[in-house]
Amino acid sequence: MMIPTVDMADCVLCEMCIQLCPTVFRLNSVGYIEVIELESYPSEDVNEVIKHCPKKCITWTTG
Ligand code: SF4
Repeated sequence: MMIPTVDMADCVLCEMCIQLCPTVFRLNSVGYIEVIELESYPSEDVNEVIKHCPKKCITWTTG
C-alpha cells in the first residue's frame, strides 16, 4: 500500500496539509505533523497536498 510520509527535517509546520486534508494529516502531541493510520489513503487529495506543500517534503512511500 502507498502511504504518505512527511520528512520532518524539511517540514516548516505551516499546517497546509492539515487544512487541505485533515482526514490524513494532523498535529501530534508534540507538535509535529503526523500521518493518520488509515486502511487506504485518498490519492487525489494527498496528491493535491503534495503539490501545495511549500517545502515539498511529503512523498508516497510503500508500506
Ligand atoms: S504542508 Fe508540508 S511543510 Fe507544511 S506542515 Fe504539511 S508537511 Fe509540513
